[in-house]
Amino acid sequence: MQRRQFLRGTGAAVALASTGAFAAAPPRGPAVPPAPADAIADHFAPPRALAPIRASADRIIALSVCTRPFRPQGPRIEAERIGRKTIVHNYGHGGSGWSLSWGSAELAVRLAQAQPGEEVAVIGCGAIGLTTALVAQRAGLRVRIYAKDRLPDVRSFYATGVWSPDSRVIAQAHTTPEFEKRWETMARTSFHRFQTLLGLPGEPVEWRDGYFLSDVPFDQPAGPDSESREPEYPDLERRLLADLHPGARQLMPGEHPFPVPYARRYTQMTFNITAYSRLLMDDFLANGGTLHTREFESPRQFADLREKVVFNATGYGARALLGDDSIVPVRGQTARLVPQPEVDYSLFWRGHNLNVIPRRDGILVQAQRDDDYDNPDITPDRALSEQAVAQLAKLFGTAG
Ligand SMILES: Cc1cc2nc3c(=O)[nH]c(=O)nc-3n(C[C@H](O)[C@H](O)[C@H](O)COP(=O)(O)OP(=O)(O)OC[C@H]3O[C@@H](n4cnc5c(N)ncnc54)[C@H](O)[C@@H]3O)c2cc1C
Repeated sequence: MQRRQFLRGTGAAVALASTGAFAAAPPRGPAVPPAPADAIADHFAPPRALAPIRASADRIIALSVCTRPFRPQGPRIEAERIGRKTIVHNYGHGGSGWSLSWGSAELAVRLAQAQPGEEVAVIGCGAIGLTTALVAQRAGLRVRIYAKDRLPDVRSFYATGVWSPDSRVIAQAHTTPEFEKRWETMARTSFHRFQTLLGLPGEPVEWRDGYFLSDVPFDQPAGPDSESREPEYPDLERRLLADLHPGARQLMPGEHPFPVPYARRYTQMTFNITAYSRLLMDDFLANGGTLHTREFESPRQFADLREKVVFNATGYGARALLGDDSIVPVRGQTARLVPQPEVDYSLFWRGHNLNVIPRRDGILVQAQRDDDYDNPDITPDRALSEQAVAQLAKLFGTAG
């Protein structure tokens, strides 16, 4: 279960799905070959030289831990009346907040548009608060953000930075056809918005190839699944968004440089969080938005605000602010290695607790622990990241 969650959001999940290892339905849509990807000779993409990653622990420049705000019943996107204010909640996006942000913001703003007035407040300045603010501005509203902290000093900043719209977004037991419909709308809206952000200076959003590596055939388990308290999650992306995925391809020996017998190449959308956060913030301010530092201790304090409509985009903060114990913290740790602009591919090595994203602000190395679920502890575990970097070094023959 945990292994699947790690895969999800790597793009590798889709690469593995097309092997049948997850009882995959064949991918749909024009981007995917009409026969199993294995059988397709890719004459136009010959093997190319890949720049090696300089994997050593002394090159770790940042080590971060944050908690995903997971709600087993899915994100809370609904309006509520508190006193004379309309509060539109938009929080609890688990491991998919960046990916779903634009679509989630559209739903939230639509709820607010039923209300009179041209001024709105947004509480929170993470991925969800900023995109909610921008969508509200596009709808012609004047927006003030109130937040305890702002990007880059918020949890959103410590995300991996990949398109992972179904990562810990809802538990299987709570999934309903209505939720699936809503989720698909949010995901597709977001996906299309991201395609308008390609090719901008600083590359806030880009598509990258990745290599999904395995010591054993893909239809065999790579090792025992780690025991975990995590619930079962639905495979929404593979089932409902298959047409949005470029196909994955099995690579033959000699078509990749890695010292493993099995490899697949996939393509995934990535977010360069540093440049992307800066872009969102700049756009918000350029549209006339203002930002105020303020911490709320109780929803009663919303009454002090001059705006009648208040978006609550406080993420994990909603747990304390609203006493919403349905939010489960799911710990996640990433390390960044010194940037290497020449490295332009992701890596996922099955059974080795290794997920690598070639971000512009550093080579991001993610590893997970068995006790991540329902764990609010954000103390960095340096040994975990050093171990992941050591695994990475093995792929380049540089392990000590
Ligand atoms: C390790 C890790 C990797 C991830 N990778 C990905 C990924 O690759 N792709 C993806 O889509 N998602 C990913 N996620 C999930 C994503 O990061 C979250 O879903 C998202 O950041 C949630 O954003 P948010 O704006 O709701 O919350 P936050 O970023 O926590 O922002 C909350 C805001 O509210 C403010 N606030 C909170 N409480 C109060 C209060 N009482 N008063 C005033 N202000 C308050 C905070 O200061 C902050 O400004 C990852 C998460 C983790 C932990």
